[in-house]
Amino acid sequence: MPQFEVLIVGAGPAGAAAAQVLAEAGAFRVAVVDKARLPRPKACGGIFPYRLLAKIGDSSAFPSDAEYRALRFSNRGNAVVSQSAHLLGVDRGTFDHQLAQRAVKRGAGAITLIEQFDVAMLSIEDDYVRISERTGNVLSGRVLIAADGAFSRIARLAGLNRGHVVRPAIDLEIEANPEDVAALGQMPAIDLFELDDGYGWIFPKADRLSCGVVSWSGKTNLNDALGRYLARRLPGGWRVLQRMGHGIPIYTSHTDIARGRIMLAGDAANLAEPIYGAGIEAAYESGMLAGRAARAICAGEDTPEAISRAYQQQVHSRIGGPTAAVARHVSPLFRERPEFFYRNFVAGKLGHEAFAARMDGLTFDPSSERQAMGLFA
Ligand SMILES: Cc1cc2nc3c(=O)[nH]c(=O)nc-3n(C[C@H](O)[C@H](O)[C@H](O)COP(=O)(O)OP(=O)(O)OC[C@H]3O[C@@H](n4cnc5c(N)ncnc54)[C@H](O)[C@@H]3O)c2cc1C
Repeated sequence: MPQFEVLIVGAGPAGAAAAQVLAEAGAFRVAVVDKARLPRPKACGGIFPYRLLAKIGDSSAFPSDAEYRALRFSNRGNAVVSQSAHLLGVDRGTFDHQLAQRAVKRGAGAITLIEQFDVAMLSIEDDYVRISERTGNVLSGRVLIAADGAFSRIARLAGLNRGHVVRPAIDLEIEANPEDVAALGQMPAIDLFELDDGYGWIFPKADRLSCGVVSWSGKTNLNDALGRYLARRLPGGWRVLQRMGHGIPIYTSHTDIARGRIMLAGDAANLAEPIYGAGIEAAYESGMLAGRAARAICAGEDTPEAISRAYQQQVHSRIGGPTAAVARHVSPLFRERPEFFYRNFVAGKLGHEAFAARMDGLTFDPSSERQAMGLFA
């Protein structure tokens, strides 16, 4: 007998969403394990579309650091303010912890949160899976949801999500000169082409600025690029509160993200938006879908193979679908020639404004996708 019905590895938004769905279903024994001690810091700009709150529910339980009604894009001095954005900014450590704790509370004893459990090994038996640490600690469950982030060890051990693409990024949490902060205008700034092959961002939060750079080729020295970027935008200087680097696993094409009793969710399944790298919303949504699929497996609604296959299709059509248009039409060029792409399709006035206009909180709006693609044809 496995110890748990469902094992969830990773207590980020994807894992917490899966746990929440299972907590609401009741009657399932679930373990959420994370290698970190919680709350853990997370390299992330921490902004996401306001609409995500409706999916999360209980929105009052998740106070945000900032709410934005506009988003500023610039490209070498050519700036556009998108007024259609409605975004929230959070501290990821606190936000993620609140999500996980809510699931535990809702589960009323059915959800066990296990911190500092670093999954190193996986074994797949006929009726259950086992995960273990190097130290020998073992957990078993009938279903495994891998929400263990951009460099998912479980994906690697299970042979899933092969050929995935991860972009390097640095996130800094800083304090800056009040005059420079005021000049930013209380809206997130995305500064395209601040480095040759990527962009920089500055997101004003309640008591600090979240800022960083991402490189689409991985060839740029990110520390140098970030230093130059901040020196331009914050001439009065800054004080670093936290510095973290991590990968952003962008969605480029459909890969296998589920098989039998194992399903990947969130960054582990490479669901970040392919141009800007936003992934919080996709992580939460895929976690919810994985939670529902796990519930269906435990309830014996169909075979694990059929249910996990359906999960994979759902993720690709609902979450990957909108971004796949970008991946299909734009990413081949974007992946190979990001500088060319930005110069020709984003930096030009028409392309730049189209990009700004169709951003609804850092994700592409599928309804305007075809229209925008016309501009790139
Ligand atoms: C610098 C940077 C800035 C970003 N800015 C934004 C932004 O502003 N907006 C946005 O939408 N997205 C942003 N993203 C992307 C976003 O952070 C991710 O898409 C999101 O965190 C994915 O959530 P997740 O739950 O899948 O994984 P994570 O939040 O990464 O959670 C994975 C969890 O798994 C745990 N774990 C990993 N390995 C193991 C193991 N072996 N055993 C046990 N536990 C394990 C980790 O400790 C972690 O808690 C940014 C990413 C980066 C790198």
